Amino acid sequence: MVPDLPTIEWRRHTVTILIRLLIAAYGAWCVYLLASECFAPCLEQLVTSPGNANLTMFNLFGTVVYRLPFIAVLFVFLSIERMLVRWIVPVPPRELGCPKCGYSLKGIKSPICPECGANLGR
Ligand SMILES: [Zn+2]
Repeated sequence: MVPDLPTIEWRRHTVTILIRLLIAAYGAWCVYLLASECFAPCLEQLVTSPGNANLTMFNLFGTVVYRLPFIAVLFVFLSIERMLVRWIVPVPPRELGCPKCGYSLKGIKSPICPECGANLGR
């Protein structure tokens, strides 16, 4: 059975929420990683030996740079989120007809269904 447009929209909405939850969990893990591996030890150093502030800041910079790939992955996920959702919940092939009204879309290049006006380019 070909899912209709509201069903596809609902599935995409659900998948978007799930992906955002995963991204949020990953983001929280990144923050935890930075806090526990980078900022906490440096704060401790600053408190115990305030004279070495420059060295401490250098260490902080080093540990943050070391964890930059993890943060980069977070932004990659954020930027491909929509693509991922479209890939997981695709609009059915045009040969099967318009998902809203069933009108045959064979040979029609426009993303708008000529029968009902549904936008299939999304
Ligand atoms: Zn249609």
